[in-house]
Parts: sequence; structure tokens; C-alpha cells
Amino acid sequence: MADCIFCKIAAGEMRARLVYENDDVVAFHDLNPQAPAHILIIPRRHVASLSACSEEDGALLGKLQLAAAAIAKENKLENFRLVLNNGKGAGQSVAHLHYHLLGGRRLNWPPG
Ligand code: AMP
Repeated sequence: MADCIFCKIAAGEMRARLVYENDDVVAFHDLNPQAPAHILIIPRRHVASLSACSEEDGALLGKLQLAAAAIAKENKLENFRLVLNNGKGAGQSVAHLHYHLLGGRRLNWPPG
């Protein structure tokens, strides 16, 4: 999507600190980290949110989560949290589906 910053990162048109990529998934460090490890995991293809997904996106959602597990392992994060903000009221500021992979510190529950 033309004016989507995460599409631009996925296409290599905008710089980011990439940590992982394959045909379907791209991951990079968050610009404003909320934990020592804070990595965003996105689909290469534009998908606005989890609510915008359909049955056809099931495999892609699985790939995003498996990428998160692989990145956590690669970064020796035994304990980590995957967060997906869906909708502005839940804190979604970028309308391109993304998981936050957070780790490297104690993560309290419940989240704010
Ligand atoms: P959310 O608020 O759940 O939509 O998360 C969006 C995240 O994207 C925030 O944590 C931002 O810090 C992060 N972010 C925004 N622009 C960039 C960028 N160009 N590179 C890396 N992270 C970004």
C-alpha cells in the first residue's frame, strides 16, 4: 500500500534494523523500544489488522507466530511476550498487521 510505512520497510524503501525476513514475513527492531528486546513482526503483504484477516490468512498468521518463536530462540529469549494491538483504542498506531515481540526484562501481568 503506497503510504504504509511498514509496506515501505518490507519493500526495502524505508530503512529499518531488520532481524529476519523470508518470502512472507519481515521483522525489525521497534524505533521506540519498550523492552531490551522489542521486535516487530509483519507480513510482507499489506494486511490492515487482525480484524481484517479471513480464513485465507490462517497460514500467514501461523507463519508470523512461528517467525516470532524463531527470532526469540535466535536471540536467546526464553521468556517473551507477543502483543498484537488491534484498533486505535487498543493502541494500534500503524494500520499494517504486526506482532510486538517483547523480552529481555520481567514482563508484568496484566499489561496496561
Ligand atoms: P502499534 O502502536 O501497535 O501500532 O505499534 C506500532 C509500532 O511501530 C510502535 O511501537 C512504533 O514505535 C513502531 N514504529 C513506527 N514507525 C517505525 C519505524 N519506521 N521503524 C520501526 N518501528 C516503527
